[in-house]
Amino acid sequence: MKRFLVTGGSGFIGSHLCEKLISENHRVICIDNLITGNLRNISHLRDNSNFTFLRQDVTEYIDLDEDIDCILHFASPASPIDYLELPIQTLKVGSLGTHKALGLAKAKGSSFLLASSSEVYGDPLVHPQREDYWGNVNPIGPRGVYDEAKRFSEALTMAYHRVHGIKTRIVRIFNTFGPRMRKNDGRVVPAFISQALSGEPLTIFGDGSQTRSFCYITDLVEGIVKLTNSEICEPVNLGNPNEISITDFARLILSLTGSKSEIIFKPLPVDDPKVRKPDISRAKQELGWEPSVELEEGLKKTIEWFSQDLGLGTSD
Ligand code: UDP
Repeated sequence: MKRFLVTGGSGFIGSHLCEKLISENHRVICIDNLITGNLRNISHLRDNSNFTFLRQDVTEYIDLDEDIDCILHFASPASPIDYLELPIQTLKVGSLGTHKALGLAKAKGSSFLLASSSEVYGDPLVHPQREDYWGNVNPIGPRGVYDEAKRFSEALTMAYHRVHGIKTRIVRIFNTFGPRMRKNDGRVVPAFISQALSGEPLTIFGDGSQTRSFCYITDLVEGIVKLTNSEICEPVNLGNPNEISITDFARLILSLTGSKSEIIFKPLPVDDPKVRKPDISRAKQELGWEPSVELEEGLKKTIEWFSQDLGLGTSD
């Protein structure tokens, strides 16, 4: 049994991670200020004596009595509309929050894993993206608050590794989807599924030729656990390299839901990346990891979850 602290543990990815660690009989302390996380995501874990939830902002001093073996730093607004609405919180959690979480790792002698993002590559000029690509980021654009927060977090993580000898890991997470995404978080998967299920038009931004590569949540969580148990200090891309245009993705959602919704076009957000696809050679070679859930299979499970959730009327 290991003792984990998960920041952002009641968010989409954080809650799946807490669930996985609890299922493996680890001790898990989940910290979240709930600005984008939701207690519903961890309600099924709260009776477990190995699980503790602390409502706290990770940018403030973290005072913990117990020992911790590993800190998983996942706290951050993470969807484009969230970080457009919460630009200062996004920059603070990436800078001050990462500093506090690394400071706690140093004080407790624990290892540390940073949830970074494919956004560090910005609107990439290299395709697919390998970890040694430095990216193409507009620091003063609206997405810059998230991209630069993650780039700063990576720099600080490496500094703590080099100066204090902390065992650090960095995962660069590409588009991930699954149950517990917020209906209104603005990302393409919950947007298209909820629009299709309620008969509203699917909103394609731009001409729909931009591409993304979607990874199912269980594959991602498995990769993160492998990285946690590895000795790799360099960043590791985790994502599914199966690339699809947003237009084809909209058609796929219509066909899987059987929806008669029409497709409409809206302006492309500023600095929206034109392409995105991970090169996962490092994860394959060094972790023995690759995703196994096909896009359609993952989408069917996600659509099922959204249809129940929308039916209950409890989604935000
Ligand atoms: N997108 C879209 N319609 C929507 C939401 C998103 O066409 O209702 C597009 C968005 O412009 C981007 C892609 O889908 O090109 C993926 O967007 P998302 O917000 O999921 O995340 P991103 O990959 O941009 O971080």
